[in-house]
Amino acid sequence: MNKFYICFDVGGTDIKAGIINQNGEVVCKDKTPTKEALKNSSLGKALVTFAQNLCNNNGFKFSKAAGMGVGLPGLVDMNNGILKYAGNLKISDYNIVQDMKNYTSHNIKIANDADLCALAELKNGEGKNYNSFVMIAIGTGIGAGIVINKNLIPNSFSGEVGHMKIASKHSNKCHCGEYDCYETLASTRALVNQTKQAMIENPKSKMWKNYTPETVTGKTIFEFKDDPVAKKVLKSFIQNLGDGIINVVNILTPEAIILSGAISNQKENLIAPLEEYVNNHIFARLGGYKIKIVPASGTSDAGIIGARYLF
Ligand SMILES: [Zn+2]
Repeated sequence: MNKFYICFDVGGTDIKAGIINQNGEVVCKDKTPTKEALKNSSLGKALVTFAQNLCNNNGFKFSKAAGMGVGLPGLVDMNNGILKYAGNLKISDYNIVQDMKNYTSHNIKIANDADLCALAELKNGEGKNYNSFVMIAIGTGIGAGIVINKNLIPNSFSGEVGHMKIASKHSNKCHCGEYDCYETLASTRALVNQTKQAMIENPKSKMWKNYTPETVTGKTIFEFKDDPVAKKVLKSFIQNLGDGIINVVNILTPEAIILSGAISNQKENLIAPLEEYVNNHIFARLGGYKIKIVPASGTSDAGIIGARYLF
């Protein structure tokens, strides 16, 4: 049997697990709701059990895996195997590697989930085309992975662009305890909240035809792009998203910004106007520099694929 790795992407909603081969290909995968997995078990124990089941169900010998890689949301101390802070999981200062070692003798490595997505892009995706890029993942929050000269910046705590300050209104409280963090204004969750608010303030908006403030999703404004209310929400969202990217570009001037997350497939409605906005406001435009903004090629499997490249 060829070499294989068991890799995880632990999210607030689901835990994904996959068997990944030497070439970074997903051989088989499964997912389970995070809440359920953690009901009667620590995260470490849940992952080992999940790995054993995944192997058994797909004809792999658990003991033969070449390693286990785990992507975690939040601040990850890679060297000591400790999940220092994960707001979405309500876990802090947890030695996950030591816990997993209670149930298996495998070589185990952990890393931040957005860093692993950037690693997957670098090895197998859109990132192959660039020497330097920043991958920005837009989801419930905003994460990032920074690649310079084909290397992922490996510092456990770096690249937390989601907590850059992009306003000084002191009005948007972040789960980290601060105000006006980038992700309170430009994440998918922020977009949903902004759309809700706009509907409540504009009872004549066309969005009411298909949605109520309770059923709004991150796609709603894109479905109603000829509605002036939706248009206004989108314009302001693009500016907020753009302002964070401008800060990143002003510091690093990478060759590209790679965007991941469900909204990144909105090419005409989001990526194109975003790229224009950013290029009109970055400092280096005065030197003739232009940044490319491109969607990630990675599927939702990028997290588990990236974890394979920890080895
Ligand atoms: Zn924050």
